[in-house]
Order: sequence, then C-alpha cells, then structure tokens
Amino acid sequence: MNGLMMDQPLLISSLLTHAERHHGDQLIVSRRVEGDIHRYTFRELAERSRRLANALAAQGIGQGDRVATLAWNGYRHMELYYAVSGSGAVLHTLNPRLHPDQVTWIADHAEDQVLFFDLSFLPLIEAVAARVKTIRAFVVMTDREHMPKASKVPGLLCYEDLIDAHSSQFQWPVFDERAASSLCYTSGTTGNPKGALYSHRSTLLHTYAAALPDALDCSAKDVILPVVPMFHVNAWGLPYVACMVGAKLVFPGPWLDGKSLYELFESECVTLSAGVPTVWQGLLAHVEGNGLGFRTMRRTIIGGSACPPAMMRAFQQRYDVQVLHAWGMTELSPVGTVCTLKPQHLALDDEARMAIQSKQGRSVFGVDMKIVGPDGAELPHDGKTAGELMVRGPWVISGYFKGEGAGPLVDGWFPTGDVSTIDADGFMQITDRSKDVIKSGGEWIGSIDLENIAMAHPAVELAACIAARHPKWDERPLLVVVRKPGQSLTREELIGFYEGRIARWWTPDDVVFVDRIPLGATGKVQKNLLREAYGDHLLA
Ligand code: ADP
Repeated sequence: MNGLMMDQPLLISSLLTHAERHHGDQLIVSRRVEGDIHRYTFRELAERSRRLANALAAQGIGQGDRVATLAWNGYRHMELYYAVSGSGAVLHTLNPRLHPDQVTWIADHAEDQVLFFDLSFLPLIEAVAARVKTIRAFVVMTDREHMPKASKVPGLLCYEDLIDAHSSQFQWPVFDERAASSLCYTSGTTGNPKGALYSHRSTLLHTYAAALPDALDCSAKDVILPVVPMFHVNAWGLPYVACMVGAKLVFPGPWLDGKSLYELFESECVTLSAGVPTVWQGLLAHVEGNGLGFRTMRRTIIGGSACPPAMMRAFQQRYDVQVLHAWGMTELSPVGTVCTLKPQHLALDDEARMAIQSKQGRSVFGVDMKIVGPDGAELPHDGKTAGELMVRGPWVISGYFKGEGAGPLVDGWFPTGDVSTIDADGFMQITDRSKDVIKSGGEWIGSIDLENIAMAHPAVELAACIAARHPKWDERPLLVVVRKPGQSLTREELIGFYEGRIARWWTPDDVVFVDRIPLGATGKVQKNLLREAYGDHLLA
C-alpha cells in the first residue's frame, strides 16, 4: 500500500519559488566585478531568473543542454544557478583558475552550448573562444555601459540586454527529479578531469542535510558569505541552502584578500562564512595586523583540505569564531562529514576538544561511510586503524559523466582515495590522500599531522609535507615551508619544534624553504608539483 502524500518532484526551481514567496524581502549583497556594491532581494532574484530562463530558451537551450559559467560569486551567477537548472538545462561551472588548455578540454568534453562569463575573464575567453568546439554564444555578465569596447571574440552578448529583452513571466517546468541539474569537474591532479553530474533530487537532498544544525547550521537568522567559489562544487551548496532557509547572502566577487573580505564581514553583519584553509590566512593576517575583531561573525566552515589546529585556535580563542571543520569531495556534492561536537565533548578542556575538532567530523545523514584495508575488508572504528574511506548515499556519484574513469564503485561504495580513521563516536579523521601517503620502511606516516605541527610554529606561513625518496626507507617525510615575512626560522629550529610533539621516527628528515608553494585551482597545495621538484631531495 502506498502512502497518500503528494508526489512532488524535488526540483531546484522550488527553492527559488520558496525564497520568493516566503523570504521575498531577504537580501543578496554582491561586490561586483565592476567595483561597486549591488543589493537586491530574493524577489528580484526570482524575477530576473525567470527573464533569464526566457532568454536561454530564445538561445535555443533545451532540456539537458549544458550552459557554462566562468564567474565569481555574485548575484548574476546566482541567477544562472536557478535559471539554467530550473529550466531543465545543466549548469556547468567552469573553474577560471585552470589553464586555458584545460578549460578548452573540459568545455569540449561537456559539450557546452553557451558560456556566461564575468568581465575579469575576458582574456581567458579570448584564449579559448576560437578553440572550443561546441560553444555558440558568449555572454558577458555585465551591462551595456561596461561591455568591452573591442574584443578578439566576435559577437559577444551583453547579459543585461539579454535579460531586458525578455518577459518575467515564466512557468518553471516540472520534470523527473532525477534529471541532471549541474556539472562540476574534479581538478584532475591524476589523469583527465572527470565530471560529477548532479541531479535535482541529489541537490535538494544535499541542501536539506547541509542546512541541519549539526551540519552547516544555517537558518533565516544567518548572513552567509561564501568565500568558497561558486565554481568550486557549487560553493559547497550554500547558494541552495540560502534559498531553502531564507538566509541573507553576501557575495565577495573577485575580491578575496583579507581587507576586502573583512570590510564585507563587518559592513553586512556576516554571521557564517566558508572556505578552504588557504583563504583564511589573508583574513587572519589582516585582522591580527590591524588589531581588529569580528562584530557578528560567529562560525566559519573550513574544508577542502585539513584545517591546521593553529588556525582553529586563532579563530576560536582569539576571535570567538567557531570553526566547523568539514570534509567533502566534488563527487559528494560535496558535504560528507562535519565536525560538530556531541554532548560528551562539551565538558572537555580546550586541548581535548581541539583534538576532536581537528578531525574531519561525523557523517551527515545521507552519507554512509566505512574504512577498508587493501583486501577490501572492513576495518574497526577504533580511531586508530587507518584504511581507505568508502562512502555511499543519494548525493554520491554512481559514475562519472560520459563514463570517464570506468565504473568507480566497489560493491556499491565510492572509494574516496582518502586514507582515514573512524573513532567509536563516528568521527572520521583523514590522515592522507592515498596518493600523498608517505611510506617509510613499509609504515605509513600521515603528512597532515606533520603539516599541522609546522603550521603551529609562529614563523611558518605555509607548510606542506611530501614523500621524498630515500635510499634506506624508500620514502621519508620532507617539509616544504614558506616563512612568514621577516622571519629567519632555520631548519634546525623547525625540526627541533617536532621534539615531543610526535613519534621521533615521524620527524621530517629535512626542510626546504621556498618563497611560495604552488596552489591548485581550488586553493589546495599541489603536492604532485612539490614531489616533482623535491622528490629526490634526500638522495642528493
Ligand atoms: P579536487 O581537489 O581533486 O578537485 P575536491 O575539491 O573534490 O577535489 O577535493 C576532495 C578532496 O579534498 C578529498 O578527497 C580530500 O582529500 C580533500 N579534503 C576535503 N576536505 C578535507 C578536509 N577537511 N581535510 C582533509 N582533506 C580534505
């Protein structure tokens, strides 16, 4: 016997309709590429998204067609999120930090039809426009006044003109909730980039779960500033969450430096933010350097790579900003685990609590997880035994777009490529990515632990630990370090800093000081490049 409940498909357009009807006056504030601050309401977002949906139809965009964006976090990008997916097409958020060759490869692979881009990416568009095979229209996300006067790309369209030419009457189509809604490619540090193709259903379920109190904890009372780009796994789902809960949104545009972010945090009374660890360094340096504090910011979600405990301490103890450590992947839409404490942890002292908070956290309902050994056998959840982390759930991919990477699943589970432990309370801790693991004399050494210690040294700005080839032990840990400006930290001082903080045999063999560490398109350390540069350092 079936239940007698309405059979309404879970569609992205329903988030927008809800936001318009029930939070119509709520604000979206954007620092624009043009330099000024733009403000409007969810009502206007919905109205303009409908105009845009009409414009897309006039461009011949139909169900399942891919529409690409190369854009910062801003209200026009938000309109594309809803207009493209809402009308049944697929939003493909390209990462502008990739090399033009990669952008071309990915756009061709996705068979993008139309590309919308922010003014700042005109040079990138000029580098790829003649090469991409399927894109038939390029739209500049600006108004007539700011349109490029001359460009190597013929026939550029103007976003505001396109919208103005169309009616705001549009009925969002109703279709199967399993239809594709958006497409994100992984950065492809190994092999070609691979596309994760989300559905309306997976996105809505992910949105419900991400908003929960023990997940990202979002409500109508929040003012959310996603620093994580909308081209990086849909800004971790926050553009959808904000519509679901009716939270005010603040978009920083291209200005991600500490001073610009801080100004927006304060002027817009931001309560919650989110980003990878590297973006917070600039902010913390600005706040520290100028003796500032946060008036309203109370929580920040840090994920994408491990958040060093030193950064957590700075936020929590100095500025009273709670860090929510989170783990996820493009293949998981992306939220998998969030580190929120259980009641038994609340009475712990700061140090013990910090030990828990530096874990990546507990699974959000909808993501089941286990760890397995090399033979595939499940390993105990004792907080000590490490194995490959496997996940499954309704917002985990079942395969990659166009079958790239063959069938990734093993017995119905997605192998994450991360090595982790899970403790008896269900807290997962990543020790490494399997390709970054250091194997010394057959034993694993966790590079994240070693990096966290280096990052706790006051003279260290950024540290990465890689496996360097070793004549006796096969591999040994090597630290690559950027010093803070004006610091003269030596190798001996830094190695000495490990004394008593870690098993002696885990201590890095050497330190290489560099001016900068290469970061990838999503702000993560590119360890593969460091291994190429310094992998033989200990053999010399
Ligand atoms: P890529 O960086 O390959 O484009 P993602 O952005 O999807 O892909 O990154 C997913 C990976 O990032 C995870 O598999 C994991 O290795 C790493 N990661 C994400 N969050 C964390 C975290 N909190 N701590 C450690 N590693 C993390």
